[in-house]
Amino acid sequence: MTTRTSTPPAAAGGPVPASAWGSARLLAGTTQGRVDLTRHRAVHGMPRLPDAAGLARMLGAVHLLGRGGAGFPVATKLRGMRTGARAHVLVNGSEGEPASRKDRALLSLAPHLVLDGALAIARALETEQVTVVVADPAAYDSLAVSLRERPDARSVRLVPHDQGFVAGEVRSVVRALSGGPAVPPGRRTLPTEHGIDGRPTFASNAETFAQIALVLTLGVEEYAAVGTPEEPGTTLLTLLGDVPRAGVVEVPTGLPLAALVGAGHGEAAPVLVGGYHGTWVAGPGDLTVSRPALRQAGVPLNAGVLARLPQGTCALGEVATVAAWLASESSGQCGPCYFGLPSVADALVQLAAGRLTTEEVRRRAGLLPGRGACAHPDGAAAFVASALPVLEAEIAVHRAHGHCGRPLLGALPTTDPTPRRAA
Ligand code: SF4
Repeated sequence: MTTRTSTPPAAAGGPVPASAWGSARLLAGTTQGRVDLTRHRAVHGMPRLPDAAGLARMLGAVHLLGRGGAGFPVATKLRGMRTGARAHVLVNGSEGEPASRKDRALLSLAPHLVLDGALAIARALETEQVTVVVADPAAYDSLAVSLRERPDARSVRLVPHDQGFVAGEVRSVVRALSGGPAVPPGRRTLPTEHGIDGRPTFASNAETFAQIALVLTLGVEEYAAVGTPEEPGTTLLTLLGDVPRAGVVEVPTGLPLAALVGAGHGEAAPVLVGGYHGTWVAGPGDLTVSRPALRQAGVPLNAGVLARLPQGTCALGEVATVAAWLASESSGQCGPCYFGLPSVADALVQLAAGRLTTEEVRRRAGLLPGRGACAHPDGAAAFVASALPVLEAEIAVHRAHGHCGRPLLGALPTTDPTPRRAA
């Protein structure tokens, strides 16, 4: 049962609808909008402030996984950090995927929860260096006000990031903050070893820091009282398309996907799990909201986008549109992106016009994975390749007639509805 709604429905550039399924944690107190510091303390209290070893123990006890996409164990990342004044903490709130809205909602509505988590990590690492990167104007303004509200955040640097999908990847952000271009470095580097200005940097997604704050205010036992044993607690999702309740939702882990995306209409109604680097499935089946379980099922949750296409749209056209956008978002410095992604996007257009076979699209997509300097071509290939079997019946219609007769509704957004703040 969805018990509360914290913001009115979103117009373009307006507030993001955000609600909780059951008891709110991350979104607690947000019914009236942004939670200021006084209300934040009344709702959440003061966080515990353990040292790095103690904090890692707490985060490990609740199996906290990063919420930006990779799902890396947060305790492991913290244990890999050197402590001291050179260490840096980076909150990545850039959220470059236009289908995802959860981080901007969180930063707009509950900014102090994110800051509590970032400052607790900084204290544990014995540093004052904290940077928050954000693109959404409302989220930026909310954070700017929040930083003025709290004297313990004087050293926090708030940086606008007017970039995009690949440019929002954490290594791109680290590079931009170090004075370089907002593209991933050509070799795989870990921010914990070589981060901002070459310093060890604990970098994670905005929701991850809010979850850290919840562990510190609730304690391990209460935090783990909801959700599944392998991934306790709640998580933020962005639901879009033909779903019972579109928008940002906080849910306990373990909830069936069918409850969130609906049971379908009897006909094929494919579900996208994990956004534009995600995986298409024919329906929710018995999948549940759990990063470990979804990864094991081959459908990683990534940044938490779940979508079901409306029946009235050309599903193949929707996939082709996103593939073209993914091609346009690459930083163009590796072969699979420079040559491969436009070729796959073009193949999908040709497939929709009945001029190319599914096998040729699959062949081109199969050339992408494992050859780029970041995960972008792998994610794009998964998005395209998984759509082909799920859309088999629709593709047959396109092959026969050169179209399916349905309009392209643009159910999967490829432009950000909120204007980004100029850097
Ligand atoms: S794989 Fe693609 S997006 Fe990633 S660094 Fe190379 S060109 Fe850029």
